[in-house]
Amino acid sequence: MAGRIICLPIFFRLPGLRKVQAIALWPFIFIRDARSQSDRVLLRHEAIHLRQQLELCVIPFYLIYLGEFLWHMVRGKNGHMAYRSISFEREAYRFETVEGYLQDRPLFASFRLGKSGM
Ligand SMILES: [Zn+2]
Repeated sequence: MAGRIICLPIFFRLPGLRKVQAIALWPFIFIRDARSQSDRVLLRHEAIHLRQQLELCVIPFYLIYLGEFLWHMVRGKNGHMAYRSISFEREAYRFETVEGYLQDRPLFASFRLGKSGM
């Protein structure tokens, strides 16, 4: 699994992270609970985010991520729906259960998803 995994519970006390189990900040995956190290779906989800960050040279990823979130909020979605509508999250949720997904993933796959699904 790509990325260095760091268990850092205190990190998840920050505002906005209280319900979050893991977060990908290239090149690391931070997890709330050490037991998540065996959660292959969660780790694959975060590894997809690391790939997305890398292919956008990291900083633009966060700007687009935040921009898309705000765009969906302005358009009237609630926080959870706005989050699930972000291109990067749609890809990560759609493929988090697909073993070996990152080996065959097309470049910029987040922006190639159709409108169907999340
Ligand atoms: Zn995600």
